[in-house]
Amino acid sequence: MDGCLLLFDIDGTLIDAGGAGVGAIRLAARDLYGDQIAVPELDVRGTTDAALARKLLPAMGAEVTPDSIAQLYEAYLVRLREKFQEESSEAIILPGVLELLDILRKEGVTMGLLTGNIEAGAWIKLESFGLDQYFSFGAFGDEHPERDKLGPEALAAAERVHQRRFSPVASVVIGDTPRDISCGRVIGASTLAVATGAYSIEELSAHDPTLAVRSLEELEAVLDLVAGCSRANAPDSGPGDSSA
Ligand SMILES: [Mg+2]
Repeated sequence: MDGCLLLFDIDGTLIDAGGAGVGAIRLAARDLYGDQIAVPELDVRGTTDAALARKLLPAMGAEVTPDSIAQLYEAYLVRLREKFQEESSEAIILPGVLELLDILRKEGVTMGLLTGNIEAGAWIKLESFGLDQYFSFGAFGDEHPERDKLGPEALAAAERVHQRRFSPVASVVIGDTPRDISCGRVIGASTLAVATGAYSIEELSAHDPTLAVRSLEELEAVLDLVAGCSRANAPDSGPGDSSA
């Protein structure tokens, strides 16, 4: 399976942050713009932090500028760290995740992140569970409001870090929302949808992923998919050869 590249979403896929992310961004908005401010409801499913910032700032009467975005991210990271340290934190690792990551690592599968989280926030979330040890690169939601832009970045990051080429047809994008499925399809990767987030397996299946599972505890099916992708990674296959 060592020819395969797996790109994991974080929230709803590896962990359930127990509302810590949304809570932190709402607190950050109040820290910056005052307690009286009405923070709008946020649908964070499959979105990117860059998109959230562009939605939040105007709602608070702020201009969207590189500075205002950076300030919001900074305040968010302070609150996010606090949230994950709270005793009342309800954040958990999702079922099957640790076992799967351990097997994949033993098999030599390359694993990266493809997440809407800003990079610093992603590492805070993963470090709080020791999951950071499995990942050394990724594409993050710092700059791109559209998740679909992150796939090519993740492939490029994998190639930079591992000094070798990864074929999209030998890659799998794993996530819990229709946006993850779309993002994988854009680069011609296989897609694994996991119903441990905000969408049911029926809702995810309607978007036609390569495989949909109720949780990553469905190890056999997941490993079959990975093995299939690995076989697809013929030596001369590459983006130019893909029919996707
Ligand atoms: Mg997610």
